[in-house]
Amino acid sequence: MHELSVCLSLLQQVEQIAAEKNARRVTKIVLSIGPLSGVEQELLRHAYPMAAADTVAAEAELVMESANIVVRCSQCNAESKAAANRLLCAACGDYRTRVISGDELTLMSVELDTA
Ligand SMILES: [Zn+2]
Repeated sequence: MHELSVCLSLLQQVEQIAAEKNARRVTKIVLSIGPLSGVEQELLRHAYPMAAADTVAAEAELVMESANIVVRCSQCNAESKAAANRLLCAACGDYRTRVISGDELTLMSVELDTA
C-alpha cells in the first residue's frame, strides 16, 4: 500500500522535528499534495492512524492541501498553472512543457505541544 509507506516516511520527518523541539506530542500536520504525486488524499487519511499509532503524532490532526501543477514551456519559457490531464502552456498553448511543481508531497508545517 503506497499511502502507508508515504505516511511512514512523513512520520519520520515529523518525529525528527518533534524530537528537535522537545515536543511531547504533535497536534497538527499540514501537507501539500501535488495532484501528480500519485497520493490519494482519502487513502492517506485512512492510512495515517495506522502509521501514526504509538508515535508522538498519533493524535495529530492531518490537514491536506492540494498543490497547484506548474509547468514550464520549452518553447516560450513561460511558467503557468496546468490541469493534471492537460499540461499545456497557458501562454502559448504548446504541449512541450515540463512539470516543475505538482508531483510532490510536501510537509508544510507541524504544530507541537511542548508544554
Ligand atoms: Zn509557451
